[in-house]
Amino acid sequence: MIKPGATLGILGGGQLGRMFVMAAQSMGYAVTVLDPAPDSPAGRVAERHLCADYLDFMALDELGSTCAGVTTEFENVPADTLRYLSKFCPVSPDADSVAIAQDRIQEKQFLTHNGFALAPYLILDGQHPLTPAIDPTLFPGILKNSRFGYDGKGQVFVESADKLHDALISMNNRCCVLEKKVSLVREISVILARGRDQQIVCFPIAENRHTNGILDVSIVPAGIEEAIAVQAREIARQIAIRLDYVGILCIEFFLLENAQLLINEIAPRPHNSGHFSLDTCITSQFEQQVRVLCGLPLGNASLMRPAVMVNLLGDLWRENCAPDWRLIFNHPVAKLHLYGKQEARPGRKMGHFTVLADTVNEALVLALSIKQALT
Ligand code: ADP
Ligand code: MG
Repeated sequence: MIKPGATLGILGGGQLGRMFVMAAQSMGYAVTVLDPAPDSPAGRVAERHLCADYLDFMALDELGSTCAGVTTEFENVPADTLRYLSKFCPVSPDADSVAIAQDRIQEKQFLTHNGFALAPYLILDGQHPLTPAIDPTLFPGILKNSRFGYDGKGQVFVESADKLHDALISMNNRCCVLEKKVSLVREISVILARGRDQQIVCFPIAENRHTNGILDVSIVPAGIEEAIAVQAREIARQIAIRLDYVGILCIEFFLLENAQLLINEIAPRPHNSGHFSLDTCITSQFEQQVRVLCGLPLGNASLMRPAVMVNLLGDLWRENCAPDWRLIFNHPVAKLHLYGKQEARPGRKMGHFTVLADTVNEALVLALSIKQALT
């Protein structure tokens, strides 16, 4: 067990890292952030910021030798970095899990190989020329870059087979996955923690609404039947077990009309759709990340009240001028979280707010009315 007073390390200085730092600090740990950006949301609040590349071995030596454990806030950190750091101290999640989750091709192959259901897909890795007899049922589809996609970036819609060639060129012929566009009734996510002792604790399931490929609103508990919730949690558990995963893991699902659950993607870290846990779970996803890393018993993740979280994107800032926060503060059941980002850009996640209420409907009505007032 890593005791309070020790220093923890985190790779990545974004908002997820920032909320990890704040959770760790409130439990008595110090945190060092490694991030190449001189001004990052997590770097601003951490005890120490190592401003260096993820493959800067001098910086990794420094991080590894001064931290009692290291975790990550994003999947695009090179797996070799995690492997290297694990020679110094406990690292979670491990390099192999992150290597799978950071590459859509590997992720889909891993999931398919282990018998999990996905939307129909085709791997386009440039190794093989496109055959003219490409499966027409994959269209309309979405072409997704295998690496570095987030918030719908690195994706293009492909209407029909004859548009695929141009779509691939628009992706600079990088390795891609073509996915059938499925008709979904809901999107949900299961976030869980798995400890080194293999204990698993699931967070309440969130229902997620996206706008332009970016998460907009998360509703908890999700409006799904209990049987579906049970199934989703079980699939998420099985994925964590198959990966021999240690850390916080998010599984994004598509729910189809016939009640079938398909896995969209997995994230080896806390997730935007789990931010409600900060305000309405006994243990937040970030405290849970600290607990896993430090080998503490996992916290209870039960929901205290129904909640709705709304993302605050840079679009709400006019000429870098923040919205009128009284629109949130005036509601005693609304909680504002800002990430300390200096520059607001369209589509950039600047913060979020969460509304708690007696019923999920009440929370949704108030959250949407605040969202409307802010725009
Ligand atoms: P990101 O890594 O950017 O989150 P996703 O693959 O999760 O990328 O896609 C973002 C969103 O786009 C999804 O949450 C969903 O709303 C929509 N989407 C992605 N793939 C599909 C698909 N195959 N069918 C229907 N909608 C999709
Ligand atoms: Mg996604």
